[in-house]
Amino acid sequence: MQTRRLVLSSLAASVLTAAFVPPSHAQQLSSGIDTTTFDHSVRPQDDFYRYVNGGWLKTAQIPADASSWGAFQELRENSRNAEHQLFEDASKANALSGSPERKVGDLYASFMDSARVEKLGTAPLQSALEHVASLSNNKQLPAEFAYFARMGVRLPEGVFVGADGKKSTVNIVQLSQSGLGMPDRDYYLKQDPKMTATRAAYVDYITTMLTLAKQPDPADAAARIVALETAIATPQWERARNRDRDATYNKMTVAELEALTPSFDWKAYLNAADLSKATDVIVRQPDYVKALDPIFANTPIGTWKEYLAFKLIDGYADELPSGFVQAHFAFRGKTLSGQQELAARWKRAVDGTDSDLGEAAGTLYIAKYFKPEAKARMDALVKNIVNAYKVGIDSLDWMSPETKAQAKDKLAHFKVKIGAPDKARDYSTLVIQRGDLFGNEQRANEFEYADMASRLGKPVDNMRWGMTAPTVNAQYNSSANDITFPAGILQPPFFQVNADDAVNYGAIGAVIGHEIGHGFDDQGRKSDGEGNLRDWWTAADATAYQARTTKLGAEYDAINPIDDLHINGKLTMGENIGDLSGLAQAYRAYRISLNGKEAPVIDGLTGDQRFFIGFAQIWRGKIRDDALRQRLLTDPHSPGDYRAMVPLVNNDVFETTFEVKPGDKMYLAPADRVKIW
Ligand SMILES: [Zn+2]
Repeated sequence: MQTRRLVLSSLAASVLTAAFVPPSHAQQLSSGIDTTTFDHSVRPQDDFYRYVNGGWLKTAQIPADASSWGAFQELRENSRNAEHQLFEDASKANALSGSPERKVGDLYASFMDSARVEKLGTAPLQSALEHVASLSNNKQLPAEFAYFARMGVRLPEGVFVGADGKKSTVNIVQLSQSGLGMPDRDYYLKQDPKMTATRAAYVDYITTMLTLAKQPDPADAAARIVALETAIATPQWERARNRDRDATYNKMTVAELEALTPSFDWKAYLNAADLSKATDVIVRQPDYVKALDPIFANTPIGTWKEYLAFKLIDGYADELPSGFVQAHFAFRGKTLSGQQELAARWKRAVDGTDSDLGEAAGTLYIAKYFKPEAKARMDALVKNIVNAYKVGIDSLDWMSPETKAQAKDKLAHFKVKIGAPDKARDYSTLVIQRGDLFGNEQRANEFEYADMASRLGKPVDNMRWGMTAPTVNAQYNSSANDITFPAGILQPPFFQVNADDAVNYGAIGAVIGHEIGHGFDDQGRKSDGEGNLRDWWTAADATAYQARTTKLGAEYDAINPIDDLHINGKLTMGENIGDLSGLAQAYRAYRISLNGKEAPVIDGLTGDQRFFIGFAQIWRGKIRDDALRQRLLTDPHSPGDYRAMVPLVNNDVFETTFEVKPGDKMYLAPADRVKIW
């Protein structure tokens, strides 16, 4: 086991380092294309995804401790192995007390000390459980909810402080529906056999957790908790509706909020939650808040106590003895996601440390794995893709000059974050102690909460990052109008410093184009360059835009990845627009970068061919059936194979590059193709 770990870690390190060596001009750049993933028995004109990834699909296995596997997860594994070594080293370094390295090492060590966790048993839960047990009436709920919000426990109303959608420099208190123990309201309300079985498994899971924590009457309590959650789920909005930035922008005074739920004293809550300065709030789903009122009034305090106790135990299961961990995995890993095995303790320890001390861990990661050359190449790519959008906007035949000017103004105000924050967060007030895993987790949650609450009354700090450096992902933040590319995603097959431009534009270029595209998707288009919700469209242009998105939504709605479940075109609309536009603009940027010259043929492939292959390669992936079902119901992203295929069939250049003809499976008549940006 020890050897295997070392091999994995050093391999990860060399892969990462190799990616950031600047290209020497003496050597010809490689194509960056791995043809061993191909399946030449599939015609590219029929299924380009399988043509490029079929070889990989035949041999790749989803690891037993994962619910999906693909390019993203492989890189996450690289990042995790790299962090593993860093955290192991930090835990042995005896660094200065209070230093970020010491905190990272101590937190990781507290996760790894399973003997200590077993010895403590349920003792760490007791003070919070006693807090709940002391409740005697529903009037005490607001203060109790505030107590649990600090601990990071999910409640029927998620309360957070963030940028005001119409005044993006100002922080404001916002309320959003929450508090369910299953992934979505559909899990409570759908009557098909699969969901019915999942609900039964959920009741068993709650019963097990309450039993392990020695709570009274576990089986009946579990039934009452699920009944309460079902009552909470029923008036909740569907996910597709929650995407609507106009519908969810409902600013009101605290007095108006109180009028929605006379049975819940919001002033008492805000006082107890360190948010007493709030005068206005944004309520994302006002009719849901109103529907909570009879639930607050009529649910007996005994049921609320059971609900809160379970939320606590469920939320902290990973910091408790193995009985809790196993039960938590059996439901959340196995039943909900089809995962076969619990991940090794060190993997969970790495993920937990990354989640609690992300920017301290990120500093260690960046120092070893991120090179300035990578940032320079990314800066250039981003600049070129922004320019491609500008050229693209000018060329739109359906948009008026007025709206084009506004769109270009927004584009000019995009801000870019690459690699890691310039200045890591200050964790000095967060106390981390070896031998106190539960306490560390609780204090980390309280630290996050205090940090969030302290923003109220302060201007929005746009230097803050929403992702940590090792994260394999990217992000658009509409209120800041900025895009973020952490160091973790700047690795092959997304980004290859030694490879020719074509594959990089097709891969990371399409990712950059995707994130910029969010600024112009069906929701992103509602705000301007300053991140404020403002309608900058003429009515005719908005109508023309919607005609295109409706057509795109119908293409995705028609796809059934499993059973009777189809992709939800409305839920995935923003991501699909990002995918479609990202591919188109990355290609445009690639052509601009060639300056009118033809790209060299490398490995027998033209530049255009390499571009599209590079794009299809990043979407290779496998997913377990239960995870796919969950994804179709809850995830705004379409499944990976369709994220590759649908943008391609709508792309004119793809169709000519691979000579796709009527009768081929990837052929879409020109009139049916959707082009937005
Ligand atoms: Zn996206």
